[in-house]
Amino acid sequence: KRIPLVAGNWKMNFDHLEATYFVQKLAWLLRDAHFDFRRVEVALFPSFTSLRSVQVLVEADKLKINYGAQSVSVTNQGAFTGDISADMIAHLGCSYVIIGHSERRKYHPEDDANIVDQVRAVLAAGMQPILCVGESFEERRQGIELDFAVGQVHDVTRDLNEEEAAKLIIAYEPVWAIGTGMVATPESAQDAAQAIRADMKATFGADVADAVRILYGGSVTSKNAVELIEEPDVDGFLIGGASLDADELARICRLT
Ligand code: 13P
Repeated sequence: KRIPLVAGNWKMNFDHLEATYFVQKLAWLLRDAHFDFRRVEVALFPSFTSLRSVQVLVEADKLKINYGAQSVSVTNQGAFTGDISADMIAHLGCSYVIIGHSERRKYHPEDDANIVDQVRAVLAAGMQPILCVGESFEERRQGIELDFAVGQVHDVTRDLNEEEAAKLIIAYEPVWAIGTGMVATPESAQDAAQAIRADMKATFGADVADAVRILYGGSVTSKNAVELIEEPDVDGFLIGGASLDADELARICRLT
């Protein structure tokens, strides 16, 4: 059975002092025997500027909280001012990198080819990509949301082999649900996760499709987490706003 993942995408929030304060508080909130980090995996996605501080804290206190980066360069080194390579991220103890978040697709020139290259760079550095997909309001209005999200996954997976695909984590994040308070219904989160898993099964077979975790993201809170996680193909959450409050994030971890 897939271990659920609660992932907090902090986006462009928290400097390194706030980040380390938050990690300590979350670890303290989840310190009791009732929370089992082997049953629910917890991962945080700080800014690049906080990753080193988070690493030092996690290693010093042997915390069971994982962490990763919010994007990555497609090249590994060289004259690319301002970019951060997958190896640099991996050397900070990161397990994951978020790729293709709708905010990156919107504000940066991240197209499908670039996203495939990011996935390859992250895999080559020994980390797992969290690939974000999801329709905007317009595609939902037209009723083509499942085809759209599956298409976004397929555009990336068709260039991967079975071993690479097995390491992917997919985050279904409908754009209209991000930061709006309009959470997808459990049924539509399940429909999308199921359609994505069916496409992976058709391409790579049941073993890969059954292993890949599919997260839901978009206005997740402690109020809606339970009904979403009860869906069979929803394997956790990618959380924005609610991940900026340690008490709220700890609540979601316990409910997952
Ligand atoms: P919100 O939880 O704030 O809607 O953000 C979701 C998101 O974009 C996570 O990557």
